[in-house]
Amino acid sequence: MHKNLPSVTVSRLVAYLRVVSEMEVEGVIYATSDRLGNAANVSAHQVRKDLLLAKVTSGTRGRGYTVAILRRELSSTLGLTRSWRVAIVGMGRLGQALADYPHFKGFNFDLVCGFDRDPNKVGKLIGSLPVYGMAELSSRVEELALDIVFLTVPVGSAKAATEMIVKAGVRGVLNFVPTVISVPDTVRVEPVDFLAGLKRLAFYLQPHADPAATTT
Ligand code: NAD
Repeated sequence: MHKNLPSVTVSRLVAYLRVVSEMEVEGVIYATSDRLGNAANVSAHQVRKDLLLAKVTSGTRGRGYTVAILRRELSSTLGLTRSWRVAIVGMGRLGQALADYPHFKGFNFDLVCGFDRDPNKVGKLIGSLPVYGMAELSSRVEELALDIVFLTVPVGSAKAATEMIVKAGVRGVLNFVPTVISVPDTVRVEPVDFLAGLKRLAFYLQPHADPAATTT
C-alpha cells in the first residue's frame, strides 16, 4: 500500500526508525520533528513531509510524535512487523561473515540457509546455516519460503547466480557484489556498495584545491 513512496523517502524512514528505536530504549516519550530531523540529518519540514507521505498518525501539534507509536507505525510501513526469510548465495569470506552476524533475527530477518556452487561447502553447516548446492535453489526457495537473498559471489559469477535466483522466484536481492545486476521488475535489488562509501571518503579527505587558484 506504500509501494509508491519515493526511494529517498524510504531511506529516510529507515533512518527515522533507527532514531525512534534508540529514543524508545532511552525512555523518551515524545519526539519533535526538530529532534528527529537533527538525528537523521534532515530538516524538520522534511521529517513532517515524509511522515505525512507514510501516513503516520502519531503526531500531535505542539508535543510531537509519540515515540512508541511512531516506532510501530514506521515498522509497519517498512514491512518489518512480519518476518522475512533470507538465504545467502555465495558462502565465501563475506557470506560466512554474514552467516555469523547474530542480529538479523532482532530485525525480523530470519537467516535460513546458504547456497554455493563449491562441492566442498555443499552439505556442510557454516555457522549454524546448512549449505545447499545451486541446483537446489528453486526447490529450496519454495520449500523454505525464502523471500530475500544476500548475493555474495565473485563479480564474474554474479550474472549466472542472479539468473538462477530470479528463476527460483526470489523477490528481493541484497547485492554485495560491486556490479550492476539486471532483474525483471518483479524483483527488487538493493546494492550494498561499501566501495562507494570509501570513494566518497576519499573525496572528502583530499585537500581541496583553493578555489581562488582555479579561477585564474
Ligand atoms: P569469496 O571468493 O571468498 O567467496 C565467494 C563464494 O561464492 C565462494 O564460496 C564461491 O564458491 C561462491 N560462488 C562462486 N560462484 C558462484 C555461483 N555461480 N553460485 C553460487 N556460489 C558461487 O569472495 P568474498 O570475499 O566473500 O566476496 C564475495 C563478493 O562480495 C565479491 O563480489 C566481493 O567483491 C564482494 N564483497 C566482499 C567483501 C569482503 O570484505 N570480503 C566486502 C564487500 C563486498
